[in-house]
Amino acid sequence: MKRRRKVKILATLGPSSSDKAKIKALADSGADVFRINMSHSDHQTLRRLVNTIRAVETEGPRPIGILADLQGPKLRIGKFAHGSIEITPGDTFTLDSDPTPGTQERVYLPHPEILAAIKPDHRLLLDDGRVRLRVTESDETSAKTFVEAGTRLSDRKGVSVPDTTLAMGALTEKDRSDLEAALNAGVDWIALSFVQRPEDLAEVKKVARGRAAVMAKIEKPQAVERLDAIIDQADALMVARGDLGVEVPLERVPGIQKHITRAARSAGKPVVVATQMLESMITAPVPTRAEVSDVSTAVFEGADAVMLSAESASGSFPVEAVATMDRIAIEVERDPNYPNIIYAQRAEPEPTIADAISAGSRQIAETLNLAAICCYTASGATAMRTARERPLTPIISMSPVITTARRLSIVWGLHCVAGKEPDTLEEMIDRACQVATQEKIAEPGQRIIVTAGLPIGTPGATNMLRVAFIGSHGGDLLRK
Ligand code: PEP
Repeated sequence: MKRRRKVKILATLGPSSSDKAKIKALADSGADVFRINMSHSDHQTLRRLVNTIRAVETEGPRPIGILADLQGPKLRIGKFAHGSIEITPGDTFTLDSDPTPGTQERVYLPHPEILAAIKPDHRLLLDDGRVRLRVTESDETSAKTFVEAGTRLSDRKGVSVPDTTLAMGALTEKDRSDLEAALNAGVDWIALSFVQRPEDLAEVKKVARGRAAVMAKIEKPQAVERLDAIIDQADALMVARGDLGVEVPLERVPGIQKHITRAARSAGKPVVVATQMLESMITAPVPTRAEVSDVSTAVFEGADAVMLSAESASGSFPVEAVATMDRIAIEVERDPNYPNIIYAQRAEPEPTIADAISAGSRQIAETLNLAAICCYTASGATAMRTARERPLTPIISMSPVITTARRLSIVWGLHCVAGKEPDTLEEMIDRACQVATQEKIAEPGQRIIVTAGLPIGTPGATNMLRVAFIGSHGGDLLRK
């Protein structure tokens, strides 16, 4: 059964959405991929959720993707002698390497790598940016700061250092253990938090060894500065607007979102827009007008997916939030301005056979008003290059590899089908016609495009494009 939109929906699971009935209701209302946030899930919960999603998938009409989101190096200050202190702009305050409880003048910073790298004039943002400190003097053991903003500071609050590149990898001990558990549980995607450089991704890819694809969460200015190199290494990107909005001024986030979305689209890598998309639906059954507009902007930009966090994980209206996103996306994609807006950012094909065939299939499908583009893809690469074209014609991605079909469920416009690889070209064309009819994407009498690599079973060999006419039996009439 096909979705009525191209953009995909990611829903984060949590206490409001952890049993099978709720996960099924979320999938039925529009969730294409489920996110398990390792900041809030232990390994037993991870395995239980993966098994439950797989059970829902077995009973449902389509492959479902699973994304495990690693917490990353979340930096925090130590504790205070009395739990918290009052601060005032203009005060001086020191962060140091002394583990004793904090006072009105100082607190422990249990991250020597920050003290080693931070320099006078760098900012320290604490408690999601509520407290802003500016370094006046620093050495290996302490950083003396001037309080620029804030009223209160309490135990273990988070610290961001937007002006400082830290000499640390993106994987903590907890992340390494969560990564192994997620790979063993069989997730399809791993998201890496607080990426600073392309090497951070290389580290995760080395451990994953292709067992899961790797998504870079862009939430640090250092990552925005190295975006192209990070896109080269990553299999997908997330515009992680929560932490990004702490690390850079909030008013810069929309521009950065556009920049990341366009760069990822141009590279043909999936991009997810995340955080606070329907935030008010944590407690209310309807969103604000501003939230509807925010989701619409991401859909008009041609993002591959939009994401729900607390709305589906811990809110009171998880199913309503997914259904609301579904409705917004359908309406935007129906808008008469939608094709022109997403086409304005369409990337030129690169000089490869896969791109030439993908661009050709879009052009032919639109010129002849065909019912579908059907791509046979083992690794998923051809289907992703076809999606990069952003054709208005539905794309059916056919793969003999279920893990490919699940991974591709995050990609714009792909209707993913897993099944045995046909033995001959004739069987391939017939099967494409049958699937297009069964999935109610095409009807007998209509024509579809089929792309594939010949000889069959050679990965990365897409070299064939055929227009097939669906006969009354659902197979290719031109051959009969
Ligand atoms: C974000 O910061 O926007 C994000 C998605 O990451 P997390 O939910 O892990 O903070």
